Order: sequence, then C-alpha cells, then structure tokens
Amino acid sequence: MTTKGSLIEQSEKPVRHILALSGGKDSSALAVYMRGKIPNVEYVFCDTEKELDETYEYLLKLEAFLGKKIHHLKYSSGYGFDEILKIKNGFLPSPKSRWCTEVLKLKPYEDYMGDDPVVSYVGIRADELHRMGYITANPNVKTLFPFKDNNIRREDVMRILKDAGLGLPLYYEWRSRSGCYFCFFQQKREWVGLLENHPNLFEKAKAYEKFDKLTGERYTWNQGESLEELAHPDRIVQIKADFEKRAARARVAFKGNQKLKDVWEDEDCEEDFEISCSLCHL
Ligand code: SF4
Repeated sequence: MTTKGSLIEQSEKPVRHILALSGGKDSSALAVYMRGKIPNVEYVFCDTEKELDETYEYLLKLEAFLGKKIHHLKYSSGYGFDEILKIKNGFLPSPKSRWCTEVLKLKPYEDYMGDDPVVSYVGIRADELHRMGYITANPNVKTLFPFKDNNIRREDVMRILKDAGLGLPLYYEWRSRSGCYFCFFQQKREWVGLLENHPNLFEKAKAYEKFDKLTGERYTWNQGESLEELAHPDRIVQIKADFEKRAARARVAFKGNQKLKDVWEDEDCEEDFEISCSLCHL
C-alpha cells in the first residue's frame, strides 16, 4: 500500500486515511480486514437519516469490534431528504436522477475530507472488477482498493465477518444491499421484504409517492408501479413466485451452490445498480 508518486505525496499537510462505511457487508469487512494496518484511520458513515435500524445496530457492533468511533456524517446544508424533495416539487430520486446520493452521501463525505490530502479505502472485491466505487476528481484524494489488490472475493468477505463474530447485518435476510429504506435500487422482492419486516417504513415510503391529477404525472419509487399496487396481495404472491422461479433457475445454473445474492443479481435493474456508488451500497 503506497501513496508514492501521487499528488498527496507532495502535500505538506499530513495525509488522512479514511474508510467510508455504508453499513453493508463489503465495507464492514474491509474495516475488519484493515484493522491495525492503516495509520490513524478515520471511519465514517454518511447518514441520510433514512437508514434501517438494522444498519445502525450493525454499525454499533462494528464500532465495538474496531474499538474506534465511526463518525456519522450528515448533510451540512441544513437540507435533508425531505427538505430537498419539497424544493424539487416531489420529484423522487431515481437511478437516472440520483440527487439523494449527491446531497446526502457524496457532499458530506467531500466536505469531511475538505482539501486535506486523503487516502480513501474502498471495499470493492476482486470478483467485482466491473464496479468502480467512489470516484472523485479531487487530486488530493487517492483511492485504494485493498480487496481487489489482495484477491479478496465474496466468500472471503463472508469468512472475515464470520471470524470477527459480526456476521451479516440482519437486513440481509430480506434485502441484498445497504442504503435508505426507500432506496429505488431495491428490487420488487425487497420491497415486499420491507413491507413484511418494516410495515411502518413501507407506509412512509408509500407516502412519498404522489399522483398529480392535473398533469397525470406519477411520482413513484418504481417505474410503472406504485407501492400501493405492489402491496396488493395478488401482486405479492406473483412477486414471490417470480423470485422463486429465478432462485430455481439460479440453483440449476450454480449446481446447487447458488447464494441468495446470485438470485438478486438476476433481476433487470442490476445494470442500474452497477452505477450506484460505494458510499451507499458496499
Ligand atoms: S441508498 Fe439509495 S435512496 Fe439512499 S442515498 Fe443512496 S441511492 Fe439514494
């Protein structure tokens, strides 16, 4: 691990080492894996205040394991998700218009780094070569990918978390990624998971959706289907059946060795997910 030759090497200010946690398994495993290897490491979590309770609980466990504080970074502008949504006339974020990530994840992280020279550690794994992670144009920031560099793959991440006694965050039982409870990257089966595990949050997510009778405009988290439609009992049966079909296909393809995540990854919106950033989902 070296910063030699980079712009930050020439800086007169001391170099800061920052590992951003998303509340997901990969960044958490990276923190465990790198424990004791990074000088004066700072752990941060960009808190949108719309995260799942399971995420906050897991971060507390991780903090205890690491023996070091995880700084929760919040929007500094005074405008959180709800305030910005109002300014945007109820225009919900989507994979093609991700103002939430920019305002609630990227900006607080960049403000926290300021213009200090920073080495930023990202938990993209060796088996995810197609993913880019957090990328910044800031020449003071050098990004390192220790998992890629050390051939750490998905099964290694699982082992690292198991050996640390942390296991996975509990939301992995019904959802495949960290992030806000209403994240539009969720797949249909995960929305059903939210409904079944956090009915109050599902209702809150539903309340964000609007139908403008004058213009006919619909503001929904999913294209073409509102959460009210998705929550219809017949639709839930269909979503679960579709998911089971994919799981069965994946079992054949993976010769019985398939994991839940392989099934999630079979869905159509995976391409959109790949442009999502590590601050939300790693
Ligand atoms: S987790 Fe999803 S909803 Fe939350 S900031 Fe990231 S992309 Fe936006």
